[in-house]
Amino acid sequence: MAHVNEHYLKLPGNYLFATIAKKVDAFSKAHPDASIIRLGIGDVTRPLAPAIIEAMHKAVDEMGQAETFRGYGPEQGYDFLRQAIIKGDYEKRGVTLDPDEVFVGDGAKTDVACIQEIFGNDMRFAVADPVYPVYLDSNVMLGHTGAFDADKGIYNGVVYLPCTPENGFKAQPPAEKVDIIYLCNPSNPTGTAMSRKELETWIAYAKENKVVLIYDSAYETYITEKDVPHSIYEVAGAKEVAIELRSYSKCAGFTGTRCSYVVVPKACMAYRTDGTPVELNPMWNRRQCTFFNGTPYIIQRAAEAYYSEAGQRQCLSDVDYYMNNAHIIRDGLQAAGYTVYGATNSPYAWVQTPNGMKSWDFFDLLLEKAHVVTTPGSGFGPHGEGYLRLTAFGTKENTEEAIRRIAALHLLA
Ligand SMILES: *Cc1c(COP(=O)(O)O)cnc(C)c1O
Repeated sequence: MAHVNEHYLKLPGNYLFATIAKKVDAFSKAHPDASIIRLGIGDVTRPLAPAIIEAMHKAVDEMGQAETFRGYGPEQGYDFLRQAIIKGDYEKRGVTLDPDEVFVGDGAKTDVACIQEIFGNDMRFAVADPVYPVYLDSNVMLGHTGAFDADKGIYNGVVYLPCTPENGFKAQPPAEKVDIIYLCNPSNPTGTAMSRKELETWIAYAKENKVVLIYDSAYETYITEKDVPHSIYEVAGAKEVAIELRSYSKCAGFTGTRCSYVVVPKACMAYRTDGTPVELNPMWNRRQCTFFNGTPYIIQRAAEAYYSEAGQRQCLSDVDYYMNNAHIIRDGLQAAGYTVYGATNSPYAWVQTPNGMKSWDFFDLLLEKAHVVTTPGSGFGPHGEGYLRLTAFGTKENTEEAIRRIAALHLLA
């Protein structure tokens, strides 16, 4: 008898974005003339930069010629991209890495879900609350948690790190013992970012407790404040305890193009049950060589072009465009009396609901009265209740119009 992986059955049925889509669909069927503005899902809208398109065209032509055709590439990524990553993302920040510490992937979602395969099944892990759902759900599906507690909205056996106004929405090291901790900095969904000092505390904690940090810096390009590091390796000692993940989705519009990378420093260790340290780098290398046959050549050439002078100029100009939207959201809602977090080092604003309203109630109200789609904070974890996430990935015109409509409701006046 074929048995299913019963851990999948622990997942509650309603996927957040599916529920939102259903509500929006029903609303637009009932009000076909309403012009709906979507500030909900975290997908980019600006087209790929010309420098990237040019590189892709060139790579496509190479694939059509016997002399330049490429078949299977190295599972870890082509050397040209690994070198470009080290030069473009690390050396300029004073971080040195070996090319074989960098593993090119086809998306940070894949990478973050798969990285846990190199750790023991009995690992106790911690996530921020609210959190990017992939960290949690992928661990549930591999059996690293207990059952879902529907009353509390949490999984048994997982350590949640509450992010609240009191701690500036920054996860704090837990009091109880854990082995793996996921950190997203700047954070999706709250849009807040930890400073160098706060990250130093995390690194000291991780070293002392032999914890490995899975550090997702997908929004690194959006950092504007000087005291927020762009890489965890800017913090001394981080190579021993941190794996960093990056994506081209938010910095270069690759959500539909798919490229990412993972840095596993050779100094980064986990342990056998008898306490013997084991290097994680060869383990992740082995995992990739067996489970993965590399990111397409054309896509790696596209990612390489992100680091060219024209690519940087064009992509950073799109990031500026989105950050301008983030400021429109933050400043516009603050002027209307709302309490708004984030939107300074990330394309997300984390907005407190008016008068203690529940997340879903405020979501419904904004959909019905302002025709604006948002994301209920409670969908990211119990401590997201009482908040909404608004994204800056729309057009400037739509963002301005959405904020005008929300302000015009005078819910706090
Ligand atoms: C968007 C996002 C990613 C990137 O995912 P891709 O699979 O590379 O598109 C990773 N982590 C977080 C927190 C994100 O919001």
